[in-house]
Amino acid sequence: MHATLSRRELTERLKAHALALGFDLVGVAPVQESPELAFFERWLEAGYAGEMHYLQRSRARRLDPRQVLPEVQSIVVCGLNYDTDAPYSTEQPDPCRGWIARYAWGKDYHQVVLDKLQQLEAFLHQLVPTARSKPYVDTGPVVERVHAKYAGLGWFGKNTCLLNTRLGSWFFLGELLVSIPLEYDRPTPDHCGTCRRCLDACPTQAFPAPYVLDARRCISYLTIELKGAIPEALRPLMGNHVFGCDICQDVCPWNRKRRFTREPELQPRPAQHHPPLAELAQLTPEAFRQRFRGTALERAKRRGLLRNVCVAMGNSGNPDFIPLLERLSADEDALVREHAAWALARLRQQASVG
Ligand code: SF4
Ligand code: SF4
Repeated sequence: MHATLSRRELTERLKAHALALGFDLVGVAPVQESPELAFFERWLEAGYAGEMHYLQRSRARRLDPRQVLPEVQSIVVCGLNYDTDAPYSTEQPDPCRGWIARYAWGKDYHQVVLDKLQQLEAFLHQLVPTARSKPYVDTGPVVERVHAKYAGLGWFGKNTCLLNTRLGSWFFLGELLVSIPLEYDRPTPDHCGTCRRCLDACPTQAFPAPYVLDARRCISYLTIELKGAIPEALRPLMGNHVFGCDICQDVCPWNRKRRFTREPELQPRPAQHHPPLAELAQLTPEAFRQRFRGTALERAKRRGLLRNVCVAMGNSGNPDFIPLLERLSADEDALVREHAAWALARLRQQASVG
């Protein structure tokens, strides 16, 4: 350790530097067992993760940070606000436009957060040249939040998001695992109280109980993680969501106080949050690549996005989409063809009834 720095001073210097790098939140968690990690195991066993097999495969690494860095003693958890001055999905009910989740409007956050963590790591090594460390930006939805909770960044809301009294739930997480002991923060108490707005607002009833998400019913999972066909029973409940869903965050009272990110890379790209469905439906593979390069939407690929666009057009009640859907029902991709046929049948049936 730096000859002149106490554990407290080192912790304070690291935290101040994380904030100077542009992170909005920072805290430190010890490496420890916790009831939430045991819950994650049970959640996986219950099958609530659906086809997110990577969560099973990386289970040991996720549950024990020593599998990532054997000497780890402390976890510095950083939060980066991504809220911007754009409306909530609940304020934009136009069914002829698709909705893309707020986190995906700017540059893919993994790189943005990782760049900052690497700068924090370099600063640590200036202070303590012998320290071992590993920056970590999770691609999975669960365990990172447990560390964040114990680092004092927030509590698990009934919608299973991590909630902070200042930023609500609009922030990304990144971790720096370090081999030296630091001063640890305390977990934040639960501030959900008797509220249940998120549970009541979920259009697919994806919460079997407060604090428990059945990802198999969640629109975020269905539009991003699921690679095959969307279960037919859920399609009519998905509204105009074409990539992710923000409803259970949009209705949360802790997200009412808006604070906007200072991060230029997270500003929305033009027309990214609620693009016209007709425009998305006509994306060629090349146009898709150009439009979404460097954003989280690359993960869905064109076939995943167009599958979702077909469902949204089917839910729009707008017969003007019929010619576009007829074209998509002859698309080169079988997944797109099948969802286009479903949407066509739905719109034609509504037109004949109307
Ligand atoms: S993201 Fe949407 S579908 Fe998923 S739990 Fe929240 S409200 Fe329900
Ligand atoms: S909507 Fe209410 S119950 Fe749900 S996470 Fe927010 S405060 Fe908690």
